[in-house]
Amino acid sequence: MSRGARRSSQTEPRPAVRPGRGGTPLLRAERLSKTYADGDVHAINDVTLGIDRGEYVAIMGPSGSGKSTLLNLLGALDSPTSGEVFFEGEPFSRLGNLDRFRSQHVGFVFQSFYLLPVLTAVENVQVPMFEGPLGARQRARKAAALLESVGLGHRLHHLPAQLSVGERQRVAIARALANDPILLLADEPTGNLDSVSAEGVFELFARLHLERGVTIVLITHDEGFAHRAHRLVRMKDGRIVSDSDGPLAD
Ligand code: ADP
Ligand code: MG
Repeated sequence: MSRGARRSSQTEPRPAVRPGRGGTPLLRAERLSKTYADGDVHAINDVTLGIDRGEYVAIMGPSGSGKSTLLNLLGALDSPTSGEVFFEGEPFSRLGNLDRFRSQHVGFVFQSFYLLPVLTAVENVQVPMFEGPLGARQRARKAAALLESVGLGHRLHHLPAQLSVGERQRVAIARALANDPILLLADEPTGNLDSVSAEGVFELFARLHLERGVTIVLITHDEGFAHRAHRLVRMKDGRIVSDSDGPLAD
């Protein structure tokens, strides 16, 4: 489907895109490559991509096409073999403390939820807040509010094992929002969910995008859900083969 056709059929208003400094994209990957096994495996190969503040981007592609590798590089969870990622124009290589960068600006959601089994929902959501400025009561209050916002206000003190898989993923999403990230990176977040729970998660992403203005980059295998994003990037063999928002240049 063409960009124009898709946009004109949209009923939801697109949120105002907050411009970066001087029109600088929030994130820019510049000629990124990542190789493994002494250069034998080209997980991604010469990828250039700009993402503006407030965009909602879906990434699709066959298994092994480099989607997770690209997402991990965009979130500074991994470093490229060559090329550079820029956050608001600043190269990651000059940001210094990448742990702090991630905890302040990026929320991650994965296919496996990675909740701590001995902590309740409201405790799990507080984990990323421990390095921040909030005291214990403020942390607990904020975690409860986040869980309420993902529809789990009635499950605050449940352990992960006492929650459905869909509820676990919503706890993980609340945890990803703990430090009010500007960027949410999600790698097949509905991969382990039934279709009803998956629908709930995708509705939640749409709402976070619309109401909080969070910039979202989401890997999914679901064509229907991918088309609800405002931009669809397709990958194959470590390269971007199509980008519904047009040319890759800014
Ligand atoms: P996708 O998420 O699209 O399925 P990945 O980014 O996980 O793809 O992987 C891209 C390619 O890189 C695949 O061929 C995969 O086998 C390879 N790869 C990923 N991680 C590693 C690793 N740690 N060591 C070696 N090869 C890897
Ligand atoms: Mg993957």
